[in-house]
Amino acid sequence: MIHIQDFNFKDRKVLVRVDYNVPLNENFEIEDTTRIDVSLLTINKILEDGGAVILMSHLGRPKGKEAKYSLEHVLPYLQKKVDVKVFFAEDCIGEEAQNLVDALPPRKILLLENVRFHKEEMEGDVEFAKKLASYGDTYVNDAFSAAHREHASTSVIARFFPKNRMFGFLMQKEIDSLNKVLVNPRQPFTAILGGSKISTKIDIINNLLAKVDNIILGGGMNYTMHKALGGNIGASLYEEDMLPIAKEILNKAQDYNVNIYTSSDTVSADKFGNDATRRIYNTANIPDFMEGMDIGPETCVKYRNVILKSDTILWNGPLGVFEFDNFSNGTYMIADAVVKASEQGAFSLVGGGDTISAINKFKLTDKYNYVSTAGGAMLEFCEGRKLPGILSIYDD
Ligand code: AMP
Repeated sequence: MIHIQDFNFKDRKVLVRVDYNVPLNENFEIEDTTRIDVSLLTINKILEDGGAVILMSHLGRPKGKEAKYSLEHVLPYLQKKVDVKVFFAEDCIGEEAQNLVDALPPRKILLLENVRFHKEEMEGDVEFAKKLASYGDTYVNDAFSAAHREHASTSVIARFFPKNRMFGFLMQKEIDSLNKVLVNPRQPFTAILGGSKISTKIDIINNLLAKVDNIILGGGMNYTMHKALGGNIGASLYEEDMLPIAKEILNKAQDYNVNIYTSSDTVSADKFGNDATRRIYNTANIPDFMEGMDIGPETCVKYRNVILKSDTILWNGPLGVFEFDNFSNGTYMIADAVVKASEQGAFSLVGGGDTISAINKFKLTDKYNYVSTAGGAMLEFCEGRKLPGILSIYDD
């Protein structure tokens, strides 16, 4: 397999799949530029080597050509961030794109319009992928967050570059970091799983049982576990149809010798709001009219002790309703413990949209070994699935 750092892009026309699916406000201004910022490492390497860069991306889930999903909205910011001229093709295929590609000199960038304006992109259409492939002589996939999709520009296209395909720097780092956690992790290995629903994390738990020493639970899934064990969780969030599965997980954990930690105390509220009346209860004994919103102080101490003794930590999902300041303490205490463990030498990987919002809120984002912005792709990787965007780069 080719590694981007060893490759010389001089005089090459390089198709780079990036993920510029950035949030836009009502004036089509970018609200969070991270995804563009992190793509610059790969782009600059190609430009510095003397190659030309052709950027492909999607934005949103357009039905046909919808102006609000145009990549033209990211053009001004991208142009500001690079030292060279960025051209824009108003359609990713067709005569104009072809002419711009033909005329593109080395050390310049061409941004193609949203590939999802053609339904063939999401269908993984081979002819569409072949057309895009014809624009370049080298393919770089740097869109890890789209790697779980078998789309034309994220996976199918790679087959047209049997000798000249590779991961970009961002995608390589993401894969390396996830492998560090999921393949031969340093023990003790602790996974912290929170968020609202256990149903979305079942496959991850099942895959992790064979790898981890500890699983720490927070959020809604914590209450589903307590309910499955016969506890009274009051009006707390839980999933009725997951109760048998929750029990199954607890049994399996015993077989695998994995400790599953649930909360012993819970910060409860009389309504779902920041201004609710708060009271701390034993999680297995919450009154009917109260709902669990956060892990309690005793649980924080217990969880922190486990985290501080860990050498590898994977964290996905907030431990409580962190969006409300009055119920964010548990998530903060865990976020802080993971930082402290990392400072002591543990390897920490944090991911998922809500978890990133939480660590941003606590201003701790740069204190972890790796923060994955990939969402769905990261979850599928943790579930042990083979992602099409990764498989397509490896040698046959
Ligand atoms: P998920 O998308 O499943 O990762 O869930 C993230 C959401 O779960 C966040 O918006 C949290 O506010 C929410 N959450 C965490 N703990 C609780 C709880 N105890 N009750 C209700 N929602 C929660």
